[in-house]
Amino acid sequence: MKILVINAGSSSLKYQLIDMETEKVLAKGGCERIGIDGSFLKAKGNGQEKVYEQPMPNHKVAIELVINALRDDVIGVIKSMDEIGAVGHRIVASGEYFKKTTLVTPEVQKTLEEKTFELAPLHNPAAATGLRACMEVMPKTPMALVFDTSFHATMPEKAYLYGIDYNDYKAYGVRKYGAHGTSHKFVSAEAAKYLGKKPEQLKIVTCHLGNGSSISAVDGGVCVDTSMGFTPLAGVMMGTRSGDIDASAVEFLARKKNLSHADAVTYLNKKCGVAGISGVSSDFRDLDDGAKKGNARCKLALDMFNYQTKKFVGAYAAAMGGLDCIVFTAGIGENSPNVREGVCEGLEFLGVKLDVKENAVRKDGIHEISAKDSKVKVLIIPTNEELVIARETAALL
Ligand code: AMP
Repeated sequence: MKILVINAGSSSLKYQLIDMETEKVLAKGGCERIGIDGSFLKAKGNGQEKVYEQPMPNHKVAIELVINALRDDVIGVIKSMDEIGAVGHRIVASGEYFKKTTLVTPEVQKTLEEKTFELAPLHNPAAATGLRACMEVMPKTPMALVFDTSFHATMPEKAYLYGIDYNDYKAYGVRKYGAHGTSHKFVSAEAAKYLGKKPEQLKIVTCHLGNGSSISAVDGGVCVDTSMGFTPLAGVMMGTRSGDIDASAVEFLARKKNLSHADAVTYLNKKCGVAGISGVSSDFRDLDDGAKKGNARCKLALDMFNYQTKKFVGAYAAAMGGLDCIVFTAGIGENSPNVREGVCEGLEFLGVKLDVKENAVRKDGIHEISAKDSKVKVLIIPTNEELVIARETAALL
């Protein structure tokens, strides 16, 4: 069976077509500037790339163009739309309405649109627009919703609740939901496979460190805690997001800067994090360059990020009562030896011993970077969220 994975943003739409027998990506690409002048689709298939510069006034036109690209004479990989067994849609937030991957019915679509938009106002409406567009273009094809939050649904109440009035949690669903669940799920399962152990035998801390960063405690194959919260603003400081901050400081800052509540949250999402601390960039490559040239604030931003990430690793080892493995993944986790070294430094008391030379080597696939005598294995595992979405969608059928 072939599964089409869709990740729709407000003006973009990324896709992959995956053959589930081989789990190979047959085709992939993305539409950009949907609804804006200058829209284009960059599509890959059969080892070739083609750029379609065509007006895309809405997501429906974008999906039609994607289907055309999939059937293209040169880069096409299917003859007919009927070869697509199902479509898996990435959905950022589920609230407590969906705990697992769900087949789309009119009822499901209604819940998605009426209940979850306010939980992820930038992401969920865009994903719902992508879903509607797919349903119009492919009315007979089953559609599945795959949630970033599902993997975190196993967290116990003591981990996901905030210390607020319990009645308010019940009334408004204000609690920790987490994010990047498909990534944490994928890399923790891959780690167990690599280590030749059953997931039930392992206590793993997964560090998804990218533009957005989250850390999860995976005990016996299930998530027991994670650093992101009600929204992806919480946890460690990120590219432009502040991470955890005292709520009173937010009110204080809003007053001083004359910001509304909503504007203060936008400020915390867009103007803070390592970009705010360094005053240079949200990109860790720029911070590395800056730090090497002696920019003290770039160094400070990196030190803060490593320190905060390390604290989550320690906290989660305590929460699980042990630690067998640390996994680094995503843009920073996979590519920054400095961050991996900075995070692991000082964790020797937990049995973490990094092989500093190995950590500096770049390798494809799973890469073990702990010393041979390290009690805790440290692994770099490239994430593959699309494959998880495709697997979940196929399993549902
Ligand atoms: P992601 O959100 O997973 O795509 O990660 C994107 C982030 O990864 C970028 O913003 C960079 O900060 C970071 N990144 C990518 N390549 C490198 C690298 N070679 N060294 C350090 N950071 C990197």
